[in-house]
Amino acid sequence: LQDKLNKAIKTLKGQGRITEINVAATIKEVRRALTDADVNYKVAKEITDRIREKALDRKVLISVEPGQLFVKIVQEELTELMGGEAQGINIKGDPAIILIAGLQGSGKTTFSGKLASYLKKQGRGVQLIAADIYRPAAIDQLKVLGEQVGVEVYAEPENKNAVEIAQNGIALARKTGKKIVIVDTAGRLAVDEAMMQEIEALKRAISPSETLFVVDSMTGQDAVNTAKTFNERLNFDGVVLTKLDGDARGGAALSIKTVVNKPIKFISTGEKMEALDVFYPDRMASRILGMGDVISLVERAQQAFDEDEAKRINAKMRKNQFDFDDFLSQLQQIKKMGNVKDLLGMIPGMGKMIKDLDIDNDSFKPIEAIISSMTPKERSRPDIIDGSRKKRIAAGSGTNITQVNNLLKQFDEMRKMMKKMNTMQASGKMNKMMR
Ligand code: GDP
Ligand code: MG
Repeated sequence: LQDKLNKAIKTLKGQGRITEINVAATIKEVRRALTDADVNYKVAKEITDRIREKALDRKVLISVEPGQLFVKIVQEELTELMGGEAQGINIKGDPAIILIAGLQGSGKTTFSGKLASYLKKQGRGVQLIAADIYRPAAIDQLKVLGEQVGVEVYAEPENKNAVEIAQNGIALARKTGKKIVIVDTAGRLAVDEAMMQEIEALKRAISPSETLFVVDSMTGQDAVNTAKTFNERLNFDGVVLTKLDGDARGGAALSIKTVVNKPIKFISTGEKMEALDVFYPDRMASRILGMGDVISLVERAQQAFDEDEAKRINAKMRKNQFDFDDFLSQLQQIKKMGNVKDLLGMIPGMGKMIKDLDIDNDSFKPIEAIISSMTPKERSRPDIIDGSRKKRIAAGSGTNITQVNNLLKQFDEMRKMMKKMNTMQASGKMNKMMR
């Protein structure tokens, strides 16, 4: 998914502005990437329609690279799709009961240990219950983990009744004043009726305040189907996505939330007891996009840039009236964003390239000095600057005539480029192609 989205977004890179034509092409790619990642077609269409609207809405923000702005918009929509805010678990009752369900090997026992450790660190008294009645090794496994994190494990190795074990463990927790019990259960290799009946009976008997469905994120489409079946039978409260330490499997997170409409609450990223994280939809969206820092770059740009000023300058560019005053205003906007080198360093692959490069906010100083030494008339009509004026400007700004010439030449080229773009747009070709 990551590769596909990146490819889609590449379509936009290097474009001067978000126009309807390149948004349309990119939207199509993003939609395909989403449906390929098992997101229902209807939902994918809804998201991409919203992305298109937003992208076209914000095209006035000429100051940021459109590709990055687009990434930001996609990121926002993916975040929404995955539930928006991080969701906590329900801890109610005395003790509060948390039931862990899922297929064998999905990571239930590992997660039970992690959750116990997580809650214990919050200062809560926790009791683990081993209700896997099929595999004696599973009881030992939970005991080892419990010891590791300092949480007591209740087990009855001879008892073959999961409901009884759970009830006895809960009674013990009540007696010893533990506020939370976590019930680890048995799973099968595939969904089967006996397992479903057992976990249903268990849920009915102990009425947990939170039922968590644990699923291996590496299983792709199967993860979605399993989630659907478990949800139909158990009506669980939240999802735990495990084994996200492999490559980014955003697809599972996107699809499960869409199909069962239950929040993902935790993600597990390794076998160690510390490898548990609360699920943050926005971080997962960034992970899917694989562009971490670019997003903060766009955020900073959006904060720093004055939208009205951007609109004003955009209008002048369209009328081929962009002048040195506007140029100066743009430079100042860029400087407001902070250290130029830091900003450039956030662009993927750029950090290494500019490491030894001598650029900082002072690099703009000669340019600003040259522009300041021009008269207001010269700033709007630089073509009237002749040889003797160039000399005076160089002297006045503490630069030399080559620097003045270079700036004038670059500015002239920039204006030509803008004019060309305006002519192309005026001819209406781009808009027609879109419709
Ligand atoms: P259960 O059968 O559902 O109780 O699953 P287990 O907790 O026994 O986990 C099955 C296997 O997956 C074990 O080898 C775990 O160490 C491993 N495992 C669990 N969670 C993760 C994870 O987040 N990342 C990785 N890499 N391995 C995990
Ligand atoms: Mg287990």
